[in-house]
Amino acid sequence: MKIVIIGAGPCGLGAAFRINELLNGELADKKEEIMVKVLEQEPFAGGLSRTVVDDKGFLWDMGGHITFHHNFPYYQNAVKMAIEEWNELKRNCQVDMNYLFNEEGIHLVPYPAQYAVPLFPPQVKKDCLIDLKERHENPPTDIPRNFEEWVQNNFGPTILESFFKPYTRKVWTVEPAEMNPGWVGSRVAKLDQQKLEELCEMDQEQLKHVDFGWGPNAVFTFPKYGGTGAVWKSMASKTPSDWYSFNSSVVKINPQDKKVVYMDKTNAEEPKECETDYDVLINTTPINLLGKYTGLCPDLDMTYNKVFVVGIGLKLPKPEWTDSFTWLYFPDSAVPFYRVTFFSTYGEVTPDSNQYWSVMCESARKVDDPVTQEEITEQSIQGLITKSIITKEQIVSVYSTTLPYGYPIPTINRDAELVKAHTVLEKNQIYSRGRFGGWKYEASNQDHCFVQGKELIDRLLLGQPECLYKTGLIDKQG
Ligand SMILES: Cc1cc2nc3c(=O)[nH]c(=O)nc-3n(C[C@H](O)[C@H](O)[C@H](O)COP(=O)(O)OP(=O)(O)OC[C@H]3O[C@@H](n4cnc5c(N)ncnc54)[C@H](O)[C@@H]3O)c2cc1C
Repeated sequence: MKIVIIGAGPCGLGAAFRINELLNGELADKKEEIMVKVLEQEPFAGGLSRTVVDDKGFLWDMGGHITFHHNFPYYQNAVKMAIEEWNELKRNCQVDMNYLFNEEGIHLVPYPAQYAVPLFPPQVKKDCLIDLKERHENPPTDIPRNFEEWVQNNFGPTILESFFKPYTRKVWTVEPAEMNPGWVGSRVAKLDQQKLEELCEMDQEQLKHVDFGWGPNAVFTFPKYGGTGAVWKSMASKTPSDWYSFNSSVVKINPQDKKVVYMDKTNAEEPKECETDYDVLINTTPINLLGKYTGLCPDLDMTYNKVFVVGIGLKLPKPEWTDSFTWLYFPDSAVPFYRVTFFSTYGEVTPDSNQYWSVMCESARKVDDPVTQEEITEQSIQGLITKSIITKEQIVSVYSTTLPYGYPIPTINRDAELVKAHTVLEKNQIYSRGRFGGWKYEASNQDHCFVQGKELIDRLLLGQPECLYKTGLIDKQG
């Protein structure tokens, strides 16, 4: 059996890692029968979880990447095998809600913002409490048809207008009413009425010491050296190097003959068209593109946005007030970014931590927004100055990049489109998983994607059902 994997990001590597593990264990007798080829368009592994070094020696992830090890023991063991030294960081993020207070600078409140109701301006706080009390006494019975209705049902109109609408527009670049209510799950914390009432009784001083409670997600991990990308470079090195064809960009798939056509760009001057056949094809590139490469579902209606990452390397000192924070959220429409990460607190990511520190801004835009990377970079620097996070004089390095695929947006019709796609793809032994391959935001972090790759291999080689990724074709799994 020949398994071709498109993409050497966490999902493709999860699949490769598991095949290698099985061929050296349970399926050792199949070593001669199973062949693997990983086609990756870049010269290295990592995908969106890569890390780059800028020309001044600062390291940059593609947005703030944190990882929780406890959710998937298989992932935890694999990444700990890949990287020995990890930093453990206490998550401390807040949200700037200056616009509620009619202030221009920064006004931080605890995150998630729904827990910050006690700190809102008096009238907003009063309205939030009336909304919440109503919902507590008469829980809405109608099933929400979209995310806006979900917020209305759980929190009411005041929190919807003061936080969820502006924040959704910044991160998702769509209105809450355009998103389905099903992805929310554990991603949006619900409010406990009793806890909120207790908080609202407290004064400002008492509130400063409240634990808003992240449970097991209060602590996250980050590689001590090399950024997030170090994990995935190392992970790839744990599997046979002759499985990988880097600089190999897939351009067409012929499902009838089971052939993949790709451009080998090893010699950039003279790219070569190559072909490989497969019995099973695992795809981790965006599923809407896969639909076109195969011709099997060329018109999938999938919505996504793009993300600009702007990294600023700075001379010390770092403003003291930022010391306890890992990152901050910005629903404020006056600045381009939705999140600012104090990246140099995560690991060794500057040329010299005795001299430098760094921040990273993420800004999302609709795919057809004409704003340029240069404009976003300039606006980000200005925004960081407005929010008193940096001064212009401290800047020693400016890095920026555009991720054409940033967030897979859970729109109302997403799941129906995915069922349509998987129905025809899986009939042709093509399996699409991962952040954009599977297109389910709620299961699109590094750990999810790695485990999706692993579980797909367990399904294909051991006949076990997949648990994490649901295609919607229940009877076909495992
Ligand atoms: C802004 C941002 C913030 C994030 N924050 C976090 C976080 O805090 N924690 C976390 O765990 N995760 C985070 N993630 C998600 C994380 O990046 C993904 O979970 C992970 O990288 C997805 O892995 P994947 O293998 O599914 O896809 P990808 O990483 O996208 O890998 C796909 C691979 O396919 C390759 N490829 C694409 N097209 C082709 C082609 N035609 N031919 C050959 N190869 C191709 C790509 O080069 C890439 O290497 C974040 C992502 C973004 C964008």
